[in-house]
Amino acid sequence: MRAVIIGTGPAGITAALTLRQLDPSGAVTALSAEPYPPYSPPAIADHFLTGRDQTLYWQGRDVAQRLGIEERREACVAAVDSCNREVVLADGDRIRYERLIVASGSRLHAPLTGAELPGVYDFKSLRVATEMIGRVRSGEVKSALIVGNGFIGIELALLLADLGVDVTIIGRRSWVMPRVLDPETSAVAEAALEARGVTLRLGLEAEAFIGDGGVTGVRLAGGEVVTAGMYIAATGVKPHVEFLGGSDVTARWGVEVDDRLRTTDPNIFAAGDVTEAADRLTGEPYVHAIFPNAVAQGRVAALNALGRDIRYEGAEAMNSLKHLGVPIVAMGSTDHPDEILRRHDGAGLRSIYLRDGQIVGAQLAGDISAAGIYRSLMLRRAKVRPFGKRIIEPGFGMSQIVWDAMQPGRIHACAAA
Ligand SMILES: Cc1cc2nc3c(=O)[nH]c(=O)nc-3n(C[C@H](O)[C@H](O)[C@H](O)COP(=O)(O)OP(=O)(O)OC[C@H]3O[C@@H](n4cnc5c(N)ncnc54)[C@H](O)[C@@H]3O)c2cc1C
Repeated sequence: MRAVIIGTGPAGITAALTLRQLDPSGAVTALSAEPYPPYSPPAIADHFLTGRDQTLYWQGRDVAQRLGIEERREACVAAVDSCNREVVLADGDRIRYERLIVASGSRLHAPLTGAELPGVYDFKSLRVATEMIGRVRSGEVKSALIVGNGFIGIELALLLADLGVDVTIIGRRSWVMPRVLDPETSAVAEAALEARGVTLRLGLEAEAFIGDGGVTGVRLAGGEVVTAGMYIAATGVKPHVEFLGGSDVTARWGVEVDDRLRTTDPNIFAAGDVTEAADRLTGEPYVHAIFPNAVAQGRVAALNALGRDIRYEGAEAMNSLKHLGVPIVAMGSTDHPDEILRRHDGAGLRSIYLRDGQIVGAQLAGDISAAGIYRSLMLRRAKVRPFGKRIIEPGFGMSQIVWDAMQPGRIHACAAA
């Protein structure tokens, strides 16, 4: 089979590896708009802090040559011609496919004026990160202003702070990572950020990046203008779907897929941050833009492109902060619980969100050793109310009783024991 993959991020390269493994005689072409070998965005910060390449180029720099994949870098897809089954590159070149996998990830979504001004950076690609960190290392940049207090803004703030930059974060919501963390867990993250020297200005609306020919400041609602040596927009991400206009692939926010990750064009599959796949718990389509989902989807999309009939089990909401100094894990949802169990002690903070006696979300800061057991109970939709408050006590998850309870059909009996 002749397969083309748009994107060599975690989803795209996993799809390529899967195709290669299961269809050794097929032809695989993987296209990337960027000039680098396939890389892992979560490793960008570590790469600049340590100079290490291994985790960044997580499949090896030579993965394409090693596996006989035709990898084309700086090959930007401008359109998909569904009728002729061709991908059209920006330079006019056309590449035929029998099956296409769209794994084009996401880009910055900055719904504020001036975000396109020269000098406004994002933290979405290795190319931009290389330029930004180059300016820091040259001594040109001593301070940075990050608009956006989500996951990517925090990751970048920690990296820049570790490189000696005076960092300020401006966030619309009054706590950091509001889409992922509840205010209580967020307070732990905020304390850690402030201890690292990051200034948090939260609950403020940034109206515009301003400047004439290049950014010179950020104007807040109310008129205050904040200035710094470098400006970053970290206001959210949007799936890379523009080139699909005019094709038979339907994209709302992300690409619409069925439970086989097949798009509305039967020859085209989608995987990773570009995809609105079903949430594993709610079944609702949603873009859960995290690495493990991208990898799992890349594999399932490739298997189905090869004609297997593999159901995608659904995307998970699961985030962890790596560089904060305090481990934090957040999973599931904090929306509409009917009960919240919370414990703050020497081991840290644990919050469990329950609905109808089942865990629908959990947040841990400090001691995160029970994260795996909460995730497992959540995904199994186990009725955990019989555990009572024991579920948030330190050591929960280590006891035999819980492991016994994980056996199918045992949860009630063990919890009551
Ligand atoms: C700084 C940072 C830190 C992160 N940290 C974490 C973390 O700790 N844990 C976690 O789980 N997730 C993390 N994420 C999210 C994670 O990196 C993404 O979910 C994951 O990379 C998605 O993989 P993907 O293959 O779908 O997309 P991407 O990795 O975005 O790759 C997209 C690919 O598509 C290519 N492409 C795009 N448009 C075109 C086009 N028109 N033509 C050709 N090629 C195109 C790009 O060049 C690229 O190769 C982080 C993300 C960032 C940016």
